[in-house]
Amino acid sequence: MEIPREIHRIEIPTPFAVGSMNSYLIEGDPVILIDTGPRTDEALSRLRKGLIRAGYTLEDIDRVLLTHGHVDHTGLAGTIVRENEHKGDSSTGVSIHEADSNRVTEYENFTKERVQSYNHIIEIAGVRTDERPHMTAGYLETYFLKFGESIPDVFLLEEGTTIKTSIGTLRTMWVPGHSLGSCCFVCKESKIAFSGDHILGTISSNPSLDYDISEQISMVSYMESLKRMESLSGYTVLPGHRDIVTDLSRRVFELQAEYQLKLDQMRDFLSSQPRTLYWLSRKQFGDYDANSMVLALAETFDLLRILERRGEAVIGENDGILAAISSS
Ligand SMILES: [Zn+2]
Repeated sequence: MEIPREIHRIEIPTPFAVGSMNSYLIEGDPVILIDTGPRTDEALSRLRKGLIRAGYTLEDIDRVLLTHGHVDHTGLAGTIVRENEHKGDSSTGVSIHEADSNRVTEYENFTKERVQSYNHIIEIAGVRTDERPHMTAGYLETYFLKFGESIPDVFLLEEGTTIKTSIGTLRTMWVPGHSLGSCCFVCKESKIAFSGDHILGTISSNPSLDYDISEQISMVSYMESLKRMESLSGYTVLPGHRDIVTDLSRRVFELQAEYQLKLDQMRDFLSSQPRTLYWLSRKQFGDYDANSMVLALAETFDLLRILERRGEAVIGENDGILAAISSS
């Protein structure tokens, strides 16, 4: 399947472990940018260069569509809005799903809350103090805060919201999991789907990082949203990181198989002896580094909660530390 020539992929560097991200320019009327890259000088310079190569500048962008609220995809939205402010009423609109909208309208508060929840999972996981990553609240806040900013107004997307473009109509498909407000933009005419981080070709979407202790299990939401991709068999997928995905059905199948394998492994580590999240995460993910600790713990917690729902694990709490046993 050919990618319409109106679409330009602009690869933008990020300071995060994931490496670069993809912004997509769709030429025409309106000129649309899907995802922006983080708020760094390098990212801004690369975005400008990519636009110039296609014959555009930041001022030509009419609409910014955000696949989700993670800062590596949203950080430059404020800069683009400012560049277009002088145009008045028709200034660039930024669209994002309601469930992720506070990540861009209240970026600072949201980031501080995330940092608190990261510290919380480290605490309840039973990580010894001397093994905890160097992640004081102040440190992380400063680290993350500079890569984004709050923007006052956004248009809210929901399932089914359509956006007219030169390649056809983009239909918003809400795919909670990677983040609660993750969306794909699906173009039936061109058989193209912009997938954000919901589908990535060679790396995991890490749905558990957006874990929410009190509510839904984000890994379960992710697997349900993944199932919806089966309806897009034959589509070319333009993801938020790395290369395009040409065989979507196969990728969905691989991700479903990986999920089963992870659950099976976690089940095998459980016994009648209570084990902390931290102990189980080391079994499951081996000798990961401090930067990956929150992710490893969050994924361990999701897997355990899924096993618990299935009646295969029991999660208990002692002195604020969680531990799990096998229920058999
Ligand atoms: Zn993301």
